[in-house]
Amino acid sequence: MTSNSPDIKLKETPVRAPSHVPVDDAVLPFEVASLDLRGRLTRLGPGLDDLLAKHNYPTPVAKLLGEAIVLTTLLGSSLKFDGRFILQTQTDGPVSFLIVDFQAPDRLRAYARFDAGQIRDGQTSGQLLGKGHLAMTIDQGPEMSRYQGLVALQGGSLEDAAHEYFLRSEQIPTRVRLAVGEEWRGGEGGARRRWRGGGMLLQFLPKAPERARQADLHPGDAPEGTATHTVAEDDAWVEGQSLIATVEDVELIDPALSGERLLYRLFHERGVRVFSPLALRAQCSCSRDAVSAMLKSFAAEDRAAMVKDGKVVVTCEFCSSVYQFTPQEAGVEEGAA
Ligand SMILES: [Zn+2]
Repeated sequence: MTSNSPDIKLKETPVRAPSHVPVDDAVLPFEVASLDLRGRLTRLGPGLDDLLAKHNYPTPVAKLLGEAIVLTTLLGSSLKFDGRFILQTQTDGPVSFLIVDFQAPDRLRAYARFDAGQIRDGQTSGQLLGKGHLAMTIDQGPEMSRYQGLVALQGGSLEDAAHEYFLRSEQIPTRVRLAVGEEWRGGEGGARRRWRGGGMLLQFLPKAPERARQADLHPGDAPEGTATHTVAEDDAWVEGQSLIATVEDVELIDPALSGERLLYRLFHERGVRVFSPLALRAQCSCSRDAVSAMLKSFAAEDRAAMVKDGKVVVTCEFCSSVYQFTPQEAGVEEGAA
């Protein structure tokens, strides 16, 4: 088959104008073929608001957890199997623990643990987290081994941690942008502030691997006086990084700007192609059966210690659903409580 075969021509994607219609709670994959760039754009509206609003978090905590949710959608939505992507942080700052659980193809749930007495307005994500680590776990089911990637958190943002992860572990030139904000909007029950989030992941994936060389983040521990070894990055990747750096937070969360319009605004000179979007929804996977099975896995004395006022009450930390059991249902032996 020659390169001008009609079969190949037929496979070309038709060129069309970008859609004006904004789509919330979705991830839009895209490609800028002329620069060997691939990426994903996340826009979150009602789904993010649902995940954050039901917990009544202080604003800085909600914003941080929102950023972790956006990052999770950018990373987890590339899963091609019916698997699970879990992002967790464990740190010594005011927000000591946060978890986002993405279950392919579309379910999201999340929560954060924090010390309310240490939360101040205007704290950055790095100040809220403090020092510790970020773990990303990919679980493909019982027959496959779990994969876990770890990144140290040193007081920087989640964007910094994602860059560090891709540089050290995946070795794919990657830039990430995350934005979360509130908009004042009417709706059922009157006007209130609603959370929105947006994010973009951009990766340089050239066919020739030597073009993917990256400048190191740190100068290393060479003795003083040694000439710094500078790595010249590929022109296409330099251009990709400078384009994503121009994306403003307000563009990522603007409810009136469609994802396609935003991509067109950024990459129109180079040509950008979008693929089918992936819808997302906020939905917990807890159930009475699952909680009951968890209770039965506890030691008998731990179960007995959970009986209060003649019942066992378990609250799901993700969605705040309350499950009540009689001591018998919870497997507590008579006389043990
Ligand atoms: Zn739940």
